[in-house]
Amino acid sequence: MHYNSNLNFEFDKIEPVTVEEVGACPLCHKATSPTFINGYLIGSSENAIPLTAYIILYCPSCRELYIATYRFYNGLDQSILIDCHPHNTLPVSFNDNLKLFSPEFVNIYAQAKSAESSSDTKGLAGIGYRKALEYLIKDYLIQIKKQDKKTIIQMDLGRCVNMLDAELQNIEKASVWLGNDETHYYKKNDGYDLNDLKEFIDCLVADIERECVRQKAKKLVNK
Ligand SMILES: [Zn+2]
Repeated sequence: MHYNSNLNFEFDKIEPVTVEEVGACPLCHKATSPTFINGYLIGSSENAIPLTAYIILYCPSCRELYIATYRFYNGLDQSILIDCHPHNTLPVSFNDNLKLFSPEFVNIYAQAKSAESSSDTKGLAGIGYRKALEYLIKDYLIQIKKQDKKTIIQMDLGRCVNMLDAELQNIEKASVWLGNDETHYYKKNDGYDLNDLKEFIDCLVADIERECVRQKAKKLVNK
């Protein structure tokens, strides 16, 4: 890797550096062994720039280049992968029934997922998932439970959850709590994170998708 100590580009020194693998390609999301193209190790104690490696990698699967950024601690002994650029967001795959049932949920969920995939906006993802969840629960109450639309729209999310069937309430209460944790300064439910929140949302989505199919069948039978 090229190392220009204190950003002095007149002295280009080659420094061997070992870093952990990036895992999946940020563009095609496949786990491949990328080819090392080139790398630059930059840092400057004079300018307070922490020692950072920018490594250009070639993905044999999508045949694109990307840059992996590593920050070093303790000289060159310890490194941590900070980010990979550029990156593509994995498309969100919900079935057509759900897209028709709650287009706003699908739309906001996709935005949250996109925020999650970038280190610049990762901190906003939880707020997005919490908002998406609110649309999903309210649409569920309005369309499946046939509750009054005007009332539900104005009702706070906690009260909406109390109107769900008993078996759905626990999973939804847990989701709302975790969603609130993502929104507020003080995190109450330590030990749980964004992945748990997404898992709970997935569970509700699966329930709603099944309910949509049940309602479709009911409509056909009662024709
Ligand atoms: Zn790739």
